[in-house]
Amino acid sequence: MTFQPNSPAARDVAYVLHPYTNFEAHEEKGPMIIDRGEGIYVYDDSGKKYIEGMAGLWSTSLGFNSERLKQAAMKQFDTLPYYHTFAHKAHLPSIDLAEKLISKMPVPMSKVFFNNSGSEANDTAIKIVWYYNNALGRHHKKKIVGRVNGYHGITLAAASLTGRSMNHRGFDAPLANFIHTDEPHHYSKCLPGESEEDFATRLAENLENLIIEEGPDTVAAFWAEPVMGAGGVIVPPKTYFEKIQKVLNKYDILFVADEVICGFGRTGNYWGSETFDMKPDILVCAKALSSSYLPISATIINDKVYEPVKKASAELGAFGHGYTYSGHPVCAAVALETMKIYDEENIIEKVQGVAPHFLKGLHSFADHPLVGETRGVGLVGAIQVMQDKATKKPFEASAGVGPMIANLATEEGLMLRAVGDSIAFCPPLIITETQIDEMFDCFRRGLDRALDHLRKEGQAVA
Ligand code: PMP
Repeated sequence: MTFQPNSPAARDVAYVLHPYTNFEAHEEKGPMIIDRGEGIYVYDDSGKKYIEGMAGLWSTSLGFNSERLKQAAMKQFDTLPYYHTFAHKAHLPSIDLAEKLISKMPVPMSKVFFNNSGSEANDTAIKIVWYYNNALGRHHKKKIVGRVNGYHGITLAAASLTGRSMNHRGFDAPLANFIHTDEPHHYSKCLPGESEEDFATRLAENLENLIIEEGPDTVAAFWAEPVMGAGGVIVPPKTYFEKIQKVLNKYDILFVADEVICGFGRTGNYWGSETFDMKPDILVCAKALSSSYLPISATIINDKVYEPVKKASAELGAFGHGYTYSGHPVCAAVALETMKIYDEENIIEKVQGVAPHFLKGLHSFADHPLVGETRGVGLVGAIQVMQDKATKKPFEASAGVGPMIANLATEEGLMLRAVGDSIAFCPPLIITETQIDEMFDCFRRGLDRALDHLRKEGQAVA
């Protein structure tokens, strides 16, 4: 495609390297330029309006024009636009935010370390796990267990922990000491006739066997998102975390909950850990912490982890880790205001109120000829399409059916994201029932167009 000289599209193609983008295709297609946002909607540069069905990247919980968040940032800019938190320096926004986070934890927690992104928050947690075991003299207890299709970010350690080949291929990842266990997706991974509970038992046994094979005194931590997001919105099978945690406790392995998507009400409770009865030693959060208006994330540790780390920091002279922007005052002020809005506007009850309507809408697609599985909890879900739903035969990955459906839905006015052939839904938490109906109406139009197209090509079985 040729772009108008000096147009934003031409300049984008000329100068910008986009994350998660096929650069060749980008030179051909150019960008979709988003101009502004309002509530759950965004507008492109031609003025076309879209429902943001993914809250950006699973993150803009309060929609796109919160006046309170804008004011909170401006107020902080007026007093202290930047200061660091290294070597005993502090400022009120980071103190207030840390206190607020600790008051909301699903299990007793001790201290908060601030970072800028979900990836960095996981990297910090990985380094703390290693530092902790070194402090305890357990120099071989370093392996970290993630899960196939788990997503924890893209910095080098977080990418190693992530269980997706897209984040490994070409990058010499994973690093040593990162191993992966089963993806807890009952629909695609269960044996014939296997119940959710039996599937969970088998996965916990597999984890235990892996730990024994590796040597329990070499395994340091297990990482899990309560609901796997970027892996396709995988809701864990019944009894899964209860059984997994028993194994972790048996071998003295730390449990890290990556709440980067699930935190702050997404699953219908403040934390996904509450929804699935998880008792983490370390909790990682980001995204909805600031409604994603500014970059900030947190790594939160319990006393069991803190005490040895504290001692080692004294012996070594300092905990030699920190970012220039750790606890950035403007980001912290906006995050604190975000958490106040969640409290004052009863966001958890709001999610609990609309979630049944959202899930009913999602599950109403189960009868569609293309749909194999619909799954979700709270205000996050996915619809997985199949070439033959009766035999669970997937489409060839190269056919790109999931992305085609997401693109057609976008043409119909709905931003969505395809993870393979699962199409994810994760709207802003402020979405209303009427807007949920509007979202699924757009999706149905896109899905039906995809079905027509696939039938014409002789690809859809039904
Ligand atoms: N953990 C989870 C569960 C995520 O979903 C993401 C981002 N989608 C990350 C970590 C990484 O966050 P970031 O992109 O802010 O580095």
